Amino acid sequence: MNIQSGNFTINARLKDTGTSIFSVMSAKAAEHQAINLSQGFPDFDGPAALIENVYRHMKSGKNQYAPMPGVPELRNEIAKKYNTQYQSDFNPESEITVTAGATQAIFTFIMSVVGKGDEVILFSPAYDCYAPAIRLAGGIPVFINLSEPDFSIDKEKLEKAFNSQTKLIVINNPHNPCGSVLPESDIHFIAELTKNTNCLILSDEVYEHIVFDENRFKPMNLYDGLQDRTLSVYSFGKSLHFTGWKIGYAIGSPQLTKIFRSVHQYNVFSVNTPMQYALADFLKDNETHLDISDFYQKKRDFFYNGLLKSRLKPLKSSGTYFLLADYSEISDMADTEFAIHLTQKFGVASIPLSPFYPTDDKPKGKYLRFCFAKQESTLKQALENLWKI
Ligand code: PMP
Ligand code: GLN
Repeated sequence: MNIQSGNFTINARLKDTGTSIFSVMSAKAAEHQAINLSQGFPDFDGPAALIENVYRHMKSGKNQYAPMPGVPELRNEIAKKYNTQYQSDFNPESEITVTAGATQAIFTFIMSVVGKGDEVILFSPAYDCYAPAIRLAGGIPVFINLSEPDFSIDKEKLEKAFNSQTKLIVINNPHNPCGSVLPESDIHFIAELTKNTNCLILSDEVYEHIVFDENRFKPMNLYDGLQDRTLSVYSFGKSLHFTGWKIGYAIGSPQLTKIFRSVHQYNVFSVNTPMQYALADFLKDNETHLDISDFYQKKRDFFYNGLLKSRLKPLKSSGTYFLLADYSEISDMADTEFAIHLTQKFGVASIPLSPFYPTDDKPKGKYLRFCFAKQESTLKQALENLWKI
């Protein structure tokens, strides 16, 4: 895309980039004073003690650059928590890097391993930041649609798309926007497929702590055959309810971490110092604070059961703080049009599914994504509006 600026032309590297659907729908919610169940963020604060910690560390002079991989205190706490929870033994020195949110970790890893002409397999619906990073790196995103209505991986399609040019597969588990948790059999299939190849895995696991019912989550970098080829990325924004803090981390083998840091060092160098110390203290003192599945499961149940009384058909989310709802029996409108209609006429903003499909191969069904990371009073008001459809 060339943009004329005065008497010269600028060649913009990312073609056809519009405004993200999250920003679009949040703006629509504000414009129509609608309840905003679109962009994924809680409408409540995270722990007050954590805020106090930040202030304390700022006042005590923890205000200069942190070490490039993250302050050792925080990496140690991450290792302790992770290794205890998943019975692993990652080394905070050589295998954990603190990042400016998961988005930066994703961008950094893609920049460090994808080159010109490399193919990267993505599953649609796909979170929005993967494909642009791949294109900027000169790579080619290869999209495979998940199979509706359970949004599972079609193994035949994956096997067909996989070839010697495939440099990376991007996994998102638990899955935004579908609210699904990847079955172990699919993970074993991917391990088998990539065996004896140079293909790497980027596993976006930002919703690791939000898993419901009998579903279980285990990081991809702990499966046999995948340990050395997988970098897993996380976000404190999700696990501590502060999406605006933009701090996360990446965990992978010493070799992958070394490669990751070779780019991290130049695209961000290091992450906000007082917040890292604050998080380290907080994790040390609050070992159970990351047990948030029950907290969100109650919200999911409340919202899901409420939606059953509407004309929307909700899908029961297995993880994340999102659920999809089918509106095909209510309207023939395209999903973006219908999401705007609901915002304007019924005062509830959601996210249409089709923008998560960056090719012409769109979803067969008609779905909207709702975020239930909200106070019960907010969800109740939203339901009362949705019952009127
Ligand atoms: N991956 C997924 C699947 C997400 O939903 C989000 C944020 N909602 C991110 C990555 C980005 O995380 P962060 O805000 O920490 O950059
Ligand atoms: N991850 C958030 C969501 O899925 C949005 C973050 C953003 O606005 N980029 O809603």
